[in-house]
Amino acid sequence: MSLADFVQLEGYKVAETYKHLDAGYILIAVEPTRREMACKRCGTCLQGQHGQHRIRAKFLPVFSYEAFIVFWRRKGFCPSCKKIRSEEIGFLSQESPHLTKAYETTIEELTEIAAVSRVADFTGEDKSTVWRLDYKRLLRLRSNYKVPSVTHISVDEVYARKKHQEGETRNDRFFTIVTCMKTKKVVWVSDSRRKEGLDAFYKLIGPKACANIKVVAQDQHQDYLNSTKEHCPNAAVVYDKFHVLKSFNEALNEARKLYVKMFDLKKSEKKKMTGKFKFILSKRADRRTEDEKRKLEDVAADNKIFLDLELIKESVFEIFRHENAEDAKKQFETTGEWIMKAGFPSLRNWFRHLEPNWDMIAGYYGSPVTSALSEGINNVIKTIKRRAYGYRNMDYFKLKIMQVCGLLNSNYLKARGNHESMA
Ligand SMILES: [Zn+2]
Repeated sequence: MSLADFVQLEGYKVAETYKHLDAGYILIAVEPTRREMACKRCGTCLQGQHGQHRIRAKFLPVFSYEAFIVFWRRKGFCPSCKKIRSEEIGFLSQESPHLTKAYETTIEELTEIAAVSRVADFTGEDKSTVWRLDYKRLLRLRSNYKVPSVTHISVDEVYARKKHQEGETRNDRFFTIVTCMKTKKVVWVSDSRRKEGLDAFYKLIGPKACANIKVVAQDQHQDYLNSTKEHCPNAAVVYDKFHVLKSFNEALNEARKLYVKMFDLKKSEKKKMTGKFKFILSKRADRRTEDEKRKLEDVAADNKIFLDLELIKESVFEIFRHENAEDAKKQFETTGEWIMKAGFPSLRNWFRHLEPNWDMIAGYYGSPVTSALSEGINNVIKTIKRRAYGYRNMDYFKLKIMQVCGLLNSNYLKARGNHESMA
């Protein structure tokens, strides 16, 4: 098998190969196998030939050598455009005439598994070229994307950016992430965590698909609740463990801060209660290391109020260790009594908000909701954010979440037995 056999380009044949091995590259000159040319703009058959220009487009590397396809791109008169136009070349990237589709696809598939900057280093391409290819491809995939049918979903808010833009509220700096609990894939990402964010998803899938939704797991976010009530007549809303604990931890942290402030602790004491301590406090008792236990005992020794916080926290974890909703409810009520006695406003608010909605926590016990899912997705999104390039573009960030945690990727396309170009 020669190099010429390796190069299969529709409508072209290899005329000659030039191996510049010392310089590290190979040129593969090709020529068309037919006379007809199609307008690159509209596809109409071009008439006559009006000049041509030389193109050199990057192809898949051969061993460690870079390889380029070189050819003459012809021009002709397009009767539809009524202009001289270049001919359509099927194997060229639409983004850049200096890349072949084959090479472009390799870059795109690499961006699924590595950060843009790493792909750029690895391929020697420009960072902005790699970024643009990735973004354009994701846009293409989304335009053909159909949300799969779902029955059990989890709705999460994810903090997307710090920077404040004109006319937006804090809510606009979040995304709403919709995950299918069965496939564990993110099926949609919307702007903002306002009601409109979730409405957009329900509107996209339509009333029939909404009626099929049986369980929606979410946090105590009133906007999400309102949206689901409005669109999904058959859905039970569930406050799952992850979301309940997340809001509890926020309230607990507020209480800790207040405590430090209230008692005007000495500097040395204050130091003990901040930083890493915040993390140790929020940890389940049986998961603490010996070292963490010692640190905690040290602080707890002279702080009665602090012991209350610890008890309350363990009690909250306990709610989700019960196997049935009745036992969990008793635990929940006991926890509530302690919280009211302890008197921290943030914790009281947390409990008062949940109490009338106990049914939604109870729903957790009969449904296949696992908190690991939301937690996992939250963590993955954090890593995507860290390896970000160009996430000042919020739309790209959204697409990237759907690529890494969802279905906008080649694995999904393969599973669907569908090629991108046919989708
Ligand atoms: Zn044309």
